[in-house]
Amino acid sequence: MKKNIKYNKTKIIATIGPATSSVSMLKKIIEAGVDVCRVNFSHGDWETHLQVVKNIRQANEELGTKVAILGDLQGPKLRIGEVEGNRMLLEDGATMTLTTQATISSGNTIYVKYSTLARDVKVGERVLLDDGKLELEFSKRIDAHTVEARVINGGYLSSNKGFNLPSSDMSVASLTEKDRKDLEFVMEHDFDWVALSFVRAAKDIEELRKILDENQCDAHIIAKIEKPQAVDNIDSIIEVTDAIMVARGDLGVEMPMEQVPMIQKRIVTKCVEASKPVIIATQMMESMITSPTPTRAEANDVANAVMDGADAVMLSAETSVGEYPLKAVEAVEKILGSTELGWNVYNKFKKPDPSSPSFISDRICYATVSMSEGIKAKAILSMTQTGYTAYKIASGRPNCDVFIFTSNKRLLTRLSLVWNVRAYFYDSKTNTDDTVKDVIKILKGEGFLVDGDVVINTAAMPVIENRKTNTLKISTVGE
Ligand code: PGA
Ligand code: MN
Repeated sequence: MKKNIKYNKTKIIATIGPATSSVSMLKKIIEAGVDVCRVNFSHGDWETHLQVVKNIRQANEELGTKVAILGDLQGPKLRIGEVEGNRMLLEDGATMTLTTQATISSGNTIYVKYSTLARDVKVGERVLLDDGKLELEFSKRIDAHTVEARVINGGYLSSNKGFNLPSSDMSVASLTEKDRKDLEFVMEHDFDWVALSFVRAAKDIEELRKILDENQCDAHIIAKIEKPQAVDNIDSIIEVTDAIMVARGDLGVEMPMEQVPMIQKRIVTKCVEASKPVIIATQMMESMITSPTPTRAEANDVANAVMDGADAVMLSAETSVGEYPLKAVEAVEKILGSTELGWNVYNKFKKPDPSSPSFISDRICYATVSMSEGIKAKAILSMTQTGYTAYKIASGRPNCDVFIFTSNKRLLTRLSLVWNVRAYFYDSKTNTDDTVKDVIKILKGEGFLVDGDVVINTAAMPVIENRKTNTLKISTVGE
């Protein structure tokens, strides 16, 4: 067993940046419990990203770990341009002119980098600047490039700040030109996961999937829920995506922040029911960007994500540019471990739907999870080629270890995002008896199993045919 590596059932995603991009720092945070590294295409250039990808793979190599790499596409994040002297005051009640024609913002004029603004916005709609710190309301359309807006909540504005149009039906594409380019990088360097920001509808995911398919890229997709339209369309988005991120940073700007806690809980429940991994993101350990310990409220937030049933929690600036990246991971790791021990987050399996084409294998996964509780199994050992069984079993939230065996090398790192799942390479033998013996032997060797442990194996018999899961076997290690 890799004794010095911390494991919890809930996974940790760390955004990598200058604070964590060296091999030595990566090894430290991986040993402390990081399962997935996020490369954020909103910042940095390809040269830096490539070095990060190489460093993550080197850290994996040196530690014998299977940390996954997630590429996060910026999506249609809107920004203002340069501000004269990098500071301008927006006074409450003042009327501002928003123009889409390039200029330096000053006085009562703000240059907004969004060419169809005047066409897309309606009078009375809100515009939020700088993560919602400043608020304006559109009052008048002047011409094709210019609109007027009244300042509701004023303050100082500096260059390149983001702006959000929560209720606008933006005509801007979900995959921007920049995203399409960054996607080439993601595909070329075999990322495990690709996240799309500001998703509005299922078709945004389908468009991304089409490009991946056309390029024979099997990266799996994470839909970032940070627009009210995505909350409205959540069921159809869950159906077509591989995983979901509750992106609370922008979501709390686009929607009243007091609604975010309920949205988080509802989305987590839906994802677990649909066997789609779900990530809770942003400001989880925010104060640790500059402080060595979290606030009690932050500790509660991480614990509550576990109680809600999330697969993973994510750190952003805490690990990318923060002063205490390792301490932040260590704090999260402790809270996850403590919550998993002290709270019943287990056995959430919904009875499979008999009309589903995968009903038989779903029923076996269901039986496996419920039986693991009854017979006090030490672990579930499942064979899979597509990963389907791993997602299914994990979503039942079994309270014993879950080990996945596969000859599909791409799954080994990808499944690190999934609740409680650890994957091992295994090239199926000719018969199930040998396979069961082999996989138990591997885990004994790793120190995860000892003689006398009861385990449940699932497989597709006969193993050489790579069918859907159709077999459940209970064994006692050493007998
Ligand atoms: P971001 O996404 O960090 O890429 O903005 C997460 C969020 O908005 O919460
Ligand atoms: Mn965001």
